[in-house]
Amino acid sequence: MDYQKIKKILSAEPSFRRRQAEKIIFRDLLADWQAATVLPKILRDRLAVECPLGINTHLSASPDQRTAKALITFLDGSAVETVLMSHQDGRRTACLSAQIGCPLACRICATGQMGFKRNLTAEEMLEQALFWARRLKEKKERLTNIVFMGMGEPFLNYEAVLAAVRKLNDPDGLNIGARHISISTAGLPDGIRRLAKEKLQINLAVSIHAPDDRLRSELMPINKKFNLRSVLAAAEYYLSKTGRRLMIEYTLIKAVNDQPAQAEALAELFDGWPRALIFFNLSAYNPSAGFQPADPDAIRQFAAVLRRRGLSVTKRYRFGRGEKAACGQLAGASARLKKNKP
Ligand code: SF4
Repeated sequence: MDYQKIKKILSAEPSFRRRQAEKIIFRDLLADWQAATVLPKILRDRLAVECPLGINTHLSASPDQRTAKALITFLDGSAVETVLMSHQDGRRTACLSAQIGCPLACRICATGQMGFKRNLTAEEMLEQALFWARRLKEKKERLTNIVFMGMGEPFLNYEAVLAAVRKLNDPDGLNIGARHISISTAGLPDGIRRLAKEKLQINLAVSIHAPDDRLRSELMPINKKFNLRSVLAAAEYYLSKTGRRLMIEYTLIKAVNDQPAQAEALAELFDGWPRALIFFNLSAYNPSAGFQPADPDAIRQFAAVLRRRGLSVTKRYRFGRGEKAACGQLAGASARLKKNKP
């Protein structure tokens, strides 16, 4: 979709036409201007020819149909992956990408291994959500949740991500409740502090993945620049400023960061923190770069240690593993697609 072109064409129209077009795109979720009979035919024809509403997508789904992954190709030929998770409780969560590739090069992440191409625009992020919203509408369902956990580090593309968040939350946009929108960061202190000052009720998740700087720097090179102390200081600031709950993401890798002693060390980092405001999200590593996922027993023991220390723990369902649509696995399809191009 070419939003800039749509905006340009509509800028010559009365302002109520722009409002109509916004409703056509975000509320009615139309995929064809010709279905927007509220617009005069001459305008519909022009929009349909010069900036059609179709989204260029290649779709795949997991065998249990609970996860679908779409590869969306933008106007410049760049492709990005986005995932839809269908939860048993009825939530429909779109995982959006914020960048094509990622410069942070986390060793536990396929995206990190593909390098960085460019930031996405807010419109390109919205296009990912729109794609899922349209598909769900066909099944008389609606998109209920958004997580910025796809390709890229959202805080390296802060303004565009926040612009997308505002439109997702806008009653005239996709109207998704702020409390149902989450941003996940590898731990960029400036971004965490900046988000804390926004008047937004959205959720924040910070990836820690290791209880000490030595191991964290190995898994996440960004830790050499922003070590655990600086990440946690920013997280504490976020809690004090917002009073909102903070999710700590920890991916368990077999024999690397899944030992009970490491759980104790992790718990110690959060000694004295308000227990009601933090919770740990434990997930088994999704194979993508040579490591192995922690055994279920190791994850149970790890969780038990944290709980004994008074910390709340959730364990994440492994969405999308079979389709390489799980966290840390996005990148494969876009790379493959590029290879397959004539
Ligand atoms: S885990 Fe996130 S921040 Fe790290 S390389 Fe992957 S996409 Fe980037």
